[in-house]
Amino acid sequence: MQEFEFYLPTKIYFGEGVIKKAGQEARRFGQRALVVTGKSSAKKTGALQKVEISLKEAGVEMVLFEGVEPNPSLKTAESGAELAKEKRCQVVIGLGGGSPMDAAKAVAVLSTNPAPADQYLGRNRVKEPPLPIIEIPTTAGTGSEVTPYAVLTEIKKEGSRKKILTDHLIFPKVALVDPELTLSLPGSITADTGVDALSHAIEGYIANNSQPISDLLALKAIKLLVHHLPKVMDNPEDIKARSYVLYASLLAGMVIAQTGTILVHGMGYRITSDFGLPHGRANGLLLPWVCEFNLTERYDKFALLAESLGEEVKNLSKEEAAKKAIRGIQRLLRELGMPENLKDRKIKEETIREFAEEIMQDERKLANNPRRATLEDIIKIYKRALRGEIS
Ligand code: NAP
Ligand code: ZN
Repeated sequence: MQEFEFYLPTKIYFGEGVIKKAGQEARRFGQRALVVTGKSSAKKTGALQKVEISLKEAGVEMVLFEGVEPNPSLKTAESGAELAKEKRCQVVIGLGGGSPMDAAKAVAVLSTNPAPADQYLGRNRVKEPPLPIIEIPTTAGTGSEVTPYAVLTEIKKEGSRKKILTDHLIFPKVALVDPELTLSLPGSITADTGVDALSHAIEGYIANNSQPISDLLALKAIKLLVHHLPKVMDNPEDIKARSYVLYASLLAGMVIAQTGTILVHGMGYRITSDFGLPHGRANGLLLPWVCEFNLTERYDKFALLAESLGEEVKNLSKEEAAKKAIRGIQRLLRELGMPENLKDRKIKEETIREFAEEIMQDERKLANNPRRATLEDIIKIYKRALRGEIS
């Protein structure tokens, strides 16, 4: 059997109301907690108040760092760490979508390691153990509550780039995964973030770094998303369906924590930073085409994937069944109202070439992909996803 490693040091609480454990869990690490949130949703939905009450009951003082923007910048993380140091916080709590959760991880790093933040981008560059991190997701998609990644935006004169800080030291100590917090998500964010979770599961499943345990989690996550995401879109208050979607997002996060992602994520970052598409929606544009590109290297897995996506594969050859996976992905994306391309934006040839050239310079983005991609391959995939061109 294949040799593998599976590492997940995060204590997970899952269930309606587990947000109330914030106080008791934070108290294990100290008496003052920095709570990192987004612009306004945590306040509006009452999630922040729940954390505040729970911390108070446990005798933990709350220091608030709010206003983290989508795709958080290195600067934002540096400002959060200044506040954490000034107030002598002993634990950092991320409350929100992937953006505040990732910012919380970077804040925890910069509270014990000197600025600037860019020196920690890449792999295993953190020297001192960060402050303990507790994550409370309010979107169902990124799985950041169980990953060793923080995705941060580096803003330079030439433009913004999404970069990843990867380090086992930033695995959260605790994840409080509470489906009630996702009830307030509007349809478009539910769909975008759900597609992000789907993408994590599929990418992790076919990645070169895939392994037996993460494969189990990935297929389960995919089945749950196919079944329950459309239900949530029809009835946003369906707490049972919301719970399964959040559970699937958690499983998919556990998958990428082990396997990493493939070209979908690698190629999607520029679509987000240059065209402003939310992270999950950018992945959705690329997912069918990156999968199609990899089909020949993974017939067995794509055939199983097709079945998990609810496609009829009985009596089909392995190759035919595998092709059905692409159809299954497209069907689900359509059902969720995802755009099929960005044809209306008239994206230029030079822009696509520039994106593709950047990917070719980053060996990490290419190495985990089952089929080795050339510059021309990447250009072709971008053209399909962005301009709807079929060559
Ligand atoms: P997000 O950027 O965190 O949030 C998107 C929007 O959703 C914000 O406007 C936010 O409002 C709103 N929102 C969040 N929770 C809500 C709720 N319960 N009700 C109503 N509105 C709510 O989106 P995300 O997709 O969760 O995170 C994306 C980021 O995560 C990207 O930077 C991506 O690269 C990163 N990511 C990280 C990992 C990882 O492993 N670390 C994996 C995948 C993606 P407020 O600002 O007002 O809160
Ligand atoms: Zn993602």
